[in-house]
Amino acid sequence: MDTKNAQIAASSGEVERLGRFLAAASGDCELCGSPGGELLWEDGFCRVVRVADADYPGFCRVILQRHVAEMTDLDAAERTQLMAVVCSVEASLRALYQPDKINLASFGNVVPHLHWHVIPRWRDDRHFPQPVWGSAQRVSSPARQLVSNLRLGEEIASRIDSSLKGEQS
Ligand SMILES: [Zn+2]
Repeated sequence: MDTKNAQIAASSGEVERLGRFLAAASGDCELCGSPGGELLWEDGFCRVVRVADADYPGFCRVILQRHVAEMTDLDAAERTQLMAVVCSVEASLRALYQPDKINLASFGNVVPHLHWHVIPRWRDDRHFPQPVWGSAQRVSSPARQLVSNLRLGEEIASRIDSSLKGEQS
């Protein structure tokens, strides 16, 4: 991509981000209006979705079912409940993918609807050691083992059940 095309691509990305921010600010929130990924598990409080990203096959999001922006908009019990789900997803990804590292992130700068990213990382993946939103270090990530949505969803559901019963995940 030459410099001019790169500038055009960057500015159209900014326009898209601004559009999404304004849509969210006006009540038309992307995560209220759509699942935000392929649905793996949900209850009335939050849901777990898988992000379609060829470089990061186990990339999941934990998304609150209601529209609040910050962790401190939740009461203490809800924070604990949400982190129990995040940790269940993390434990599932470690068991099924054996990554070198897990990245947990919550931004919400573009879509101010509380959600956590749970991302398995490998030393030879496309962006390592940068975050997956940073500058690419390699052309692509090596292929990883295939784990179906059904298998991943079952693993997550099992670990959430154990966690809610007070067992170790
Ligand atoms: Zn929302």
